[in-house]
Amino acid sequence: RGTDEWQKLDVAHHLHPFTDPKYFDTKGPLVVTHADGVYITDSSGRKILDGMAGLWCVNVGYGRQELIDAAHAQMQKLAYYNVFFQSATPPQIELSRVLSEITPGDLNHFFFTNSGSEANDTIIRMVRHFWEVEGQPDKQIFIGRNLGYHGSTLAATSLGGMAAMHGMGKSLLPGFEHIMHPHWYAEGGDLSEAEFGLKAAQALEDKILELGPENVAAFVGEPIQGAGGVIDPPATYWPEIQRICRKYDVLLVADEVICGFGRLGHWFGCEAYGIQPDLMPMAKGLSSGYLPIAAVAYSGRVHKTLQEGGLFSHGYTYSGHPVSCAVALANIQLIKDENLIQTVHDDTAPYFRKTLTDAVADHPLVGEVRGAGLLAGIQLVKDKATKTLFEEDLAVAVKCRDHCLNNGLIMRAVGQSMVASPPLTITRAQIDELVEKAVKSLDQTAADVGV
Ligand code: PLP
Repeated sequence: RGTDEWQKLDVAHHLHPFTDPKYFDTKGPLVVTHADGVYITDSSGRKILDGMAGLWCVNVGYGRQELIDAAHAQMQKLAYYNVFFQSATPPQIELSRVLSEITPGDLNHFFFTNSGSEANDTIIRMVRHFWEVEGQPDKQIFIGRNLGYHGSTLAATSLGGMAAMHGMGKSLLPGFEHIMHPHWYAEGGDLSEAEFGLKAAQALEDKILELGPENVAAFVGEPIQGAGGVIDPPATYWPEIQRICRKYDVLLVADEVICGFGRLGHWFGCEAYGIQPDLMPMAKGLSSGYLPIAAVAYSGRVHKTLQEGGLFSHGYTYSGHPVSCAVALANIQLIKDENLIQTVHDDTAPYFRKTLTDAVADHPLVGEVRGAGLLAGIQLVKDKATKTLFEEDLAVAVKCRDHCLNNGLIMRAVGQSMVASPPLTITRAQIDELVEKAVKSLDQTAADVGV
């Protein structure tokens, strides 16, 4: 089929997640047919630099034979078996062992799911059950943050802090509360970055006291908010959050779905901020997106209580799917063999940050360049001096995203920010290409909106 035909069929039969169908009144979808390394190829044969690693997930890059071979070999041996019938499979056992070696502290226990959303749903049920078994059944409320994203199921939507998602279909369940997010540029006022980090963390203590610590089950946050626009917190923020959680015996959950598996130059994002969570959902980079798999890692304390609690009535047909586990194992092995995390930490992430900042920080359209590791957010502003944003309906970031695509680069538009999260295998030369295309797209956008 040709591009036109693919596009017509897609629009006729497929509802795209998080996409306004009206977009397709004027343009067809990008039909992606192949990918290799950090490039995707569309149905017209055009090669595009994937500055988003798919959806923040293809950490080892596309077309890795090791992962393909692992899936093939496992399918030949055992394509599927469940873990419900007091049964287990070697890839799932081995993946649990290997994960326990790389997760921080005593997060040595795992529950497998298919997606980050399901991992967060699992945490909500697991933690509420935990407190019931601990004899504190009132500890049920989850505290998340404004602009947090934890998935699209009903419970994960409620845990997240996306107002538009809450509003659609009355999707905010009772038992979920939200506090401010730590965005110094937008909300810091006259405070230093360090002071603002403490102020943003204080919002958690205030909320716990308002609700009563005896009612609060857990606090959940992404080490760096991804879908919220790549909001990296001040260094003072996470240690203070951890101190407050410990003080009130509120479990600390670091959502590692984006930050895990090397994105920030560490196995997990919480290590970059020096905190030790009680539970961690992980997905995306766990298999570099080659197959759907996600997991919840939980601590020795949680494990002990769950053991006492007996039957945990929860699980998915594909929990611990053997083929997904085999691919995740090959993926983790590849990250180790290629020393990817160290390379990101020591070389490509510092190079990316410097190259991007040098190239765009003084651009009239850019208010702030933020992020850490191979995760970046570029805040677009109408007026740099006053930090004034554009009128919403101008959809400035969408214009910039479309220019990026025309220039052969995928970047994502989030609110009035552009975000990037390339494969961890990206080279310095490819970073130069990414930045060059981003600058050209920013120039074209600035011309569109008269900045
Ligand atoms: N948590 C975070 C931090 C995410 O960014 C996402 C997805 O982007 C999710 C959870 C949900 O994961 P999934 O889309 O696999 O359900």
